[in-house]
Amino acid sequence: IETHPNLTETAPVALSYELFPPRSPAAAESLWTTIRELETTEPDYVSVTYGASGSNRDTAVELINRLLLETTLRPLAHLTCVGNTPEELAEIIGDLLDTGVRGILALRGDQPKDGAPLAAGSLRYAQDLIELIRRVEQRRSALLCAGKIAVGVAAYPTRHPESPNEAHDVEVLLAKQRSGADFAITQVFFHTEQYANLISRARRAGVTIPIIPGVMPLTSLRRVTRLGELTGVEPAPELLARLAAADSDGERLRIGVRATVDLANAALEAGAPGIHIYTFNEHQSALEVLDKLALPRQSRSAGRRSATLRRQLAS
Ligand code: FAD
Repeated sequence: IETHPNLTETAPVALSYELFPPRSPAAAESLWTTIRELETTEPDYVSVTYGASGSNRDTAVELINRLLLETTLRPLAHLTCVGNTPEELAEIIGDLLDTGVRGILALRGDQPKDGAPLAAGSLRYAQDLIELIRRVEQRRSALLCAGKIAVGVAAYPTRHPESPNEAHDVEVLLAKQRSGADFAITQVFFHTEQYANLISRARRAGVTIPIIPGVMPLTSLRRVTRLGELTGVEPAPELLARLAAADSDGERLRIGVRATVDLANAALEAGAPGIHIYTFNEHQSALEVLDKLALPRQSRSAGRRSATLRRQLAS
């Protein structure tokens, strides 16, 4: 176990996980095992993804409701502006607030693959969605008397595929901050220096909001390759080679967890205020990474102990 030298007990690091709505009853069952395991680590929040077209809206809302009603977890609802009119989006935001959601990750979503143009009046950028959320919040200020909604946004350690360059991405992040974003979570990245580079570019440009590194457990060759293709972020060739050469699942897990811990540690050294883990609805590798990271979180070890105890009692 490595204790990070820059961190002390008095500087706790935020912890969060990403989940996606299950696509079948079997997937839901296994997701709930994962949720219960992750809950024992007492994360600050769990984020729930949203299909760009709004296709999984019902399952996303159902998952968020269950998280609110049946767990101690605080959901951060992803919301994309592609595929819904501003009126529909305002209604969705209102519904989320009514169910008790107080955090939204405002995203544009990926453009439709068929290249269909946006419907007239559609919101074009995540920035427009942030402004809409803030307007809905304003209208509901009586309901939200305990404080404002936390609005998160996406940030990119490597160039967004549609962006001309990384400097433009930082300008966009600054624009999202000015429109009311409170924090950012990064896209996946695979090289240790990429988070630090983003932070130094962003801070120079005047971005002051917390930028939380999004880290995926690098334990599956198929998943790393696929994510690289989907996001346009190039995985490290040496990691791919090592995962491909591993002769057992255990070996792959060890290599992947090591590489993920190195990425997360590099981000913490660059001042990351938290770690957001892309779980892919699985807990094993996420928890392995956490165990090795030993983040300074007061009650985390107690949570893990109780998870271990529960497993022992169940066996
Ligand atoms: P934007 O910030 O709007 O940027 C989109 C493009 O437009 C960029 O190229 C940017 O440079 C450009 N741009 C933005 N604003 C301006 C402006 N004012 N002027 C000129 N150019 C501009 N997708 C989903 O469908 N569902 C999810 O749940 C989801 N969750 C995600 C979570 C995280 C943490 C991250 C990093 C990504 C997530 N995505 C999700 C993917 C995301 O939707 C895509 O990366 C999408 O292509 C861009 O979304 P964005 O919010 O960054 O968009």
